[in-house]
Amino acid sequence: MWGDKNAAAKPEYATAKIAVWWDMDDCPIPEGYDPHWVRPSIEAAFKKLGYVGPVSITAYANQRQTPNPLQRVLSCTGIAVAHTKTASTCAAMFSDLLGWRARNPPPATMMLISNQVEDVFSWDLARLQQETMYNLFLAYSVGSCFMSILVTSAEWLWESLLDNNKDETTKTTGELSAMFYCKPCELHVRRLEGFRKHLWSLKHAVQELRNSCTQLDLVTRKWAKNYAAKPEHATAKIAVWWDMDDCPIPEGYDARQVRPSIEAAFEKLGYSGPVSITAYGDHKRTPTRLLRGLSSTGVALALTIPQVIHKRMNADLRKWRVDNPPPATIMLISDHMDDGFSHSLVYEQQRKKYNIFLAYSYRPYKMSALVTSAEWLWESLLAVSETTTPVLDKCSERSESTGMFSCKVCFDGYKSFDDFRMHLSSDDHAGEVASVLSLIRLNQQNRAYSLLRDLRKGRTF
Ligand SMILES: [Zn+2]
Ligand SMILES: [Zn+2]
Repeated sequence: MWGDKNAAAKPEYATAKIAVWWDMDDCPIPEGYDPHWVRPSIEAAFKKLGYVGPVSITAYANQRQTPNPLQRVLSCTGIAVAHTKTASTCAAMFSDLLGWRARNPPPATMMLISNQVEDVFSWDLARLQQETMYNLFLAYSVGSCFMSILVTSAEWLWESLLDNNKDETTKTTGELSAMFYCKPCELHVRRLEGFRKHLWSLKHAVQELRNSCTQLDLVTRKWAKNYAAKPEHATAKIAVWWDMDDCPIPEGYDARQVRPSIEAAFEKLGYSGPVSITAYGDHKRTPTRLLRGLSSTGVALALTIPQVIHKRMNADLRKWRVDNPPPATIMLISDHMDDGFSHSLVYEQQRKKYNIFLAYSYRPYKMSALVTSAEWLWESLLAVSETTTPVLDKCSERSESTGMFSCKVCFDGYKSFDDFRMHLSSDDHAGEVASVLSLIRLNQQNRAYSLLRDLRKGRTF
């Protein structure tokens, strides 16, 4: 099931370090399985994909409950044994992962063996990965049915990962130097006897009560907003996708000020690259005077209907990414980041990283998994140019817009505003809108029908 996902190693990762953090409570060694095989099996699975770099493995569990012989076997195959209270395992793994990232710059591979990646790790990890990308492997004993926001290069079911070494005859033997860690005491011990003695000591009991943290330290939550431009982005292109239905031009505001306001806000942070702005929405609802004001300052107008606006914006965004490799900045002006854009953007940002700006008419109630360099409230962004004197004829120099007027229902482009207005009031356009709407209705009916059919068949989701 997961086989297709596991692609061969890219050259820069083939010999790079691999660090494995293994939650032994979530993914225990199956009954009857020889623990000597854990490291060779994991290494064999990596080797199959072309990864031959040095592998470090740390096994987390409540080591007071782990049998002594198992600890001995793990440690003699070079697996570090770490003690945590079960409730603190994720927090301890994550803190070790953060420390490892700080010490080991990419290219390198991280692997998590845990069932809690989606629920516990993914938000912060996806943000970290957007900032500094590492290769990522996962293994779990319970397959997740959710579409993850994490980009991975390989995923395994834990038991099938352990099957990897069946044909080979060599076990890892000899004296690989292992380590024993007590996480609550921040202690490392070289010998098993000393480790076991420590775990049953009074000193340990006191420290464990004091120091067992169960919450992940979400480092990226503290990342600041509105950074100054990095040199590679300072003069790079900026493309703005603006949902005018969510963030309309405020009452009494001069439409010709929109572009200078946006550009002034960028300039304040040190961005001076060419800016293209496309305004999406149902332009029949916006007064002609405002639309003319926008287009006279080089803002492209793209007509959509509310039912397809995010789809069209996403499609244009994807196409733009293909034509414009980083470094470049993408800005979205929308109140629908979570349901309209975030999921696919977070995913894409781990593969090809752009600088991201956001603006919205109200602040989202929770922090997005999407890492941004700047965010604004729409109305305060527009207020920027009120303190500066807009030079309207100059600002169009930064305009990058081509295809100034487009109908995203009929997929037509127009050169003049009057032709565009004429198209919007034409019967052809009205007919096209009606057929898109009926297609959406039909799709919804089909979806409801197949859901009902699956329910009748007793299928589970
Ligand atoms: Zn301890
Ligand atoms: Zn049309």
